[in-house]
Amino acid sequence: MAIFCTDAGHGGTDSGAAWQNVLEKELNLRYVLAFNDELKKRGHQVWTTRKTDQHVPNLTTRCQLINAHHSQGTPKFDAIISLHCDVAAYRSASSGRYMANEAVRGFYAIYSRESIQGRDLAKSIANEAKENGIAVKDGGKMTILIQS
Ligand SMILES: [Zn+2]
Repeated sequence: MAIFCTDAGHGGTDSGAAWQNVLEKELNLRYVLAFNDELKKRGHQVWTTRKTDQHVPNLTTRCQLINAHHSQGTPKFDAIISLHCDVAAYRSASSGRYMANEAVRGFYAIYSRESIQGRDLAKSIANEAKENGIAVKDGGKMTILIQS
């Protein structure tokens, strides 16, 4: 069984993306709590950065805290997953209203370019999403989110 650290993006005073009356921080928390339950049902250990609508540091600081915890080996995480439900929008010149940018719609999994296991996990998650009818952008993007 594996040890996961999950992170529901944003929280508290940081709502993340907002679209109409939907706040990203609420979606992130709802999905992460459901994901945590599913991982536990399958016998995995789960640590999480937040279980309620509380403020936690920005993504860079979260990564530093998780990495510091991870490097101390208490516990040593097999995977760290940060979930975001971002939105890309632009302001319409004609109406002045914000509109969703459909060109950047979709699902993507970001992983550390230094981690082969992270790449494989991200691809597996992206493939699972694709098989369940979710539009996947580029099959996953490569970037350094969390240093190993
Ligand atoms: Zn976000």
